[in-house]
Amino acid sequence: MNSNSTTTKPTQEVRLTQNAALLSLLLLIVLCVAWEGSWAPLKPGGSWLALKALPLLFAVPGIFKRRLYTYRWLSLVIWLYFIEGVVRAYSDVGDSARLAGLETALSVLLFMACAGHVRARFKASLLAPEPPHKTPSTEPAFSQENASKAKQFQHSQPLIEELKTLLGPQHVLTAPLDLMAYEQDWRKRSTGRSLCVVRPASTLEVSQVVKACARRGVSIVPQGGNTGLVVGSTPDESGQQVLLSLQRMKAVRAVYADNLSIDVEAGCVLAQLQEAASAAGLFFPLSLGSEGSCTIGGNLSTNAGGTQVLRYGNARDLCLGLEVVLANGEILQGLSGLRKDNTGYDLKNLFIGSEGTLGIITAASLKLFPRPQSTLNAWAALNSLEDCVLLLGLAHEKLGAGLSGFEVMNQYALGLVGKHFPTLKAPFQAYPWCALMELSDNESHEHAHTQLLALLELAMEQGCVQNATVAENLSKAAQMWHIRESITLAQAQEGLNVKHDISLSAASIPAFVEQTDRELTELAPGSRLINFGHLGDGNLHYNVQGPEDTNSADFLRDFESPINDLVHRNVFALGGSISAEHGIGSLKVDTLPHYKDPQALALMRRLKNSLDPENILNPGRVIRMSPHA
Ligand SMILES: Cc1cc2nc3c(=O)[nH]c(=O)nc-3n(C[C@H](O)[C@H](O)[C@H](O)COP(=O)(O)OP(=O)(O)OC[C@H]3O[C@@H](n4cnc5c(N)ncnc54)[C@H](O)[C@@H]3O)c2cc1C
Repeated sequence: MNSNSTTTKPTQEVRLTQNAALLSLLLLIVLCVAWEGSWAPLKPGGSWLALKALPLLFAVPGIFKRRLYTYRWLSLVIWLYFIEGVVRAYSDVGDSARLAGLETALSVLLFMACAGHVRARFKASLLAPEPPHKTPSTEPAFSQENASKAKQFQHSQPLIEELKTLLGPQHVLTAPLDLMAYEQDWRKRSTGRSLCVVRPASTLEVSQVVKACARRGVSIVPQGGNTGLVVGSTPDESGQQVLLSLQRMKAVRAVYADNLSIDVEAGCVLAQLQEAASAAGLFFPLSLGSEGSCTIGGNLSTNAGGTQVLRYGNARDLCLGLEVVLANGEILQGLSGLRKDNTGYDLKNLFIGSEGTLGIITAASLKLFPRPQSTLNAWAALNSLEDCVLLLGLAHEKLGAGLSGFEVMNQYALGLVGKHFPTLKAPFQAYPWCALMELSDNESHEHAHTQLLALLELAMEQGCVQNATVAENLSKAAQMWHIRESITLAQAQEGLNVKHDISLSAASIPAFVEQTDRELTELAPGSRLINFGHLGDGNLHYNVQGPEDTNSADFLRDFESPINDLVHRNVFALGGSISAEHGIGSLKVDTLPHYKDPQALALMRRLKNSLDPENILNPGRVIRMSPHA
């Protein structure tokens, strides 16, 4: 199911822009040397040349910070110099007054562009609640942390050398180009800087890396597929964190068909895990739009949900045991195929959903299931979200445990998919809402068919479904899921938006949406609402895109914070959660304290303190540690 969905790493734009900048620089040098025997801008040309150097000075330090906008800026400046060189070479302006005029115009243009750029960034930094190109520093400054930072700077080079000895130099990446893929988050909201990226191949190597970092007080950011949506797997901007990628640890260690379980390493990509289960004639039900890239370690660390939670539960429910490297480098060996084990605290559940802040998951024992005899999907068109809830109730009643998926999508979300992926046409386009249902039947295809048709007939009789179609073959079913899974990708194509991942009882979702839509219309008129999600689990992605003609970065700058406040306030008032499945990361770390019970927060801090007293594992994610904690 939905195996067609893929994700791409957000590095192409960075690489292209950087290559363009460097190519421009090379061209400029070659041409200047060839035509004039020296670098033209450095020839005596008066004060305008000095002015022209200003933007260059501004741009060059940015290269070392590897910021995308700097490369763009550098390219622009160099190309303008280049054009000027061409004008000089092919015109007869010589050293005349016309040349001075040309240089004046060019310099003023460059200077204005530079000033405008600086002003825009300064203004954005004043207004934006979360600047789109920066990962905020992971922790507030206090003496213990500052001391540890100083220690980090002092030890960074010897640490890199030690890591190279441990893993082999090819698995410790330090070149800016190699780091970029790991340093930017999937949504391109945030770009951090790491000291290096390490790619261990075994649990022992992970343990050695953690011990080496812990000795020097250097913090570690674990990363799986880097598809997380809350900026949890990329480094902060200090340039002093070690990014630990689990991607080389992707082995399926063992399939225990008779125990319906599997042991896999943390870096195993979810789709490969599904295939391994399938090859054994079994089924691993976790399924997300990002399954072609995300890893089981990341899934467990975020307690991922997806489209099958209704029947099989989320990642936590699918896990039987974990192997974890602790903050001091010790290995907690908890792989187990046991369904029952009441020998004390359930330690694995500490690490599931902790987003890499309590330990590094290196392997997992997971539940497998018999493959259903038949999996059948239906697409229904509905007039309202209330009708979607009614249909969900009927589906529970008529399909019982067979109901394995119940997704809803509003018309605008489906329109975006059609716009960005024209080959993906949703079955019904004229209705405000559509629902995608899945029935997993353990009897037969005929049984499933009869059940699903009976449900749809009843729903149409009762007036809650306006139109419906059943996927008659696997390719139709895959197409339906592909449309559903492409919403997140279509949003990304459309531009930055304010994302929410809220959880409520399914019955209270219509009231929430009605009230929030109304208030939002007043707050940010013209906003476009992309509403979709796993209604069967009471989980809605209530996402807000700016009006058609606005720049999405400007919209985010002006409205993200008030929209977040509005949505979170309304969810909280109805007893819901501000994060159903994506987690907290660094995006919501400062929001969480407003909506979480203070006792729960205090206990979380105590747990973090006892498992990671030096705050080495993914600091500044999930919960901020205060000096008094
Ligand atoms: C198109 C798309 C669709 C998505 N759909 C869903 C969905 O339906 N449901 C859902 O829940 N999520 C969804 N997501 C979000 C994301 O895919 C999940 O959060 C996923 O579980 C992240 O896995 P990852 O391997 O990419 O983890 P990463 O993004 O690399 O990391 C996520 C977090 O886990 C930590 N981490 C990663 N690996 C480890 C490890 N081995 N040990 C300790 N900590 C670790 C990281 O430090 C970070 O805090 C979607 C994302 C995209 C892009």
